[in-house]
Amino acid sequence: MNVTYLCPHCRGAINADNNIILSAKTSTNKVGIILLHEEIGNYTSILSSSLTIEKGEVVDLFCPVCHECLNIPNKDSLAKYIRIDDNCNECYIIISRKYGEKITFKVDENKHIETFGEKLSRFIDPEWFL
Ligand SMILES: [Zn+2]
Repeated sequence: MNVTYLCPHCRGAINADNNIILSAKTSTNKVGIILLHEEIGNYTSILSSSLTIEKGEVVDLFCPVCHECLNIPNKDSLAKYIRIDDNCNECYIIISRKYGEKITFKVDENKHIETFGEKLSRFIDPEWFL
């Protein structure tokens, strides 16, 4: 499947060779690159050498193209970006910014929500995408 991921700010493509490429900053100001597998529900991640993240630590995520923040403001430590599949269907992918937390939401243009990954271990307010 030929999938493209886009930054919601600049609409620059942020995936290459099966990885979504994100810029990250931890609460202790460590910075680097995170590679996430582009397949939804595959939580393999690779960190660049300057970045170490403790399990459970919340990171800020940024577009590697325009450097805008991908965090969803004030919302349960989540971030979002756009996914376009090979039928040109566009949807939002929402991921947890808490390292090690395997939660993904897929929200299509009709606001139909699919959830992937672990059962929610904490409350996430669904109000913002409804
Ligand atoms: Zn961008």
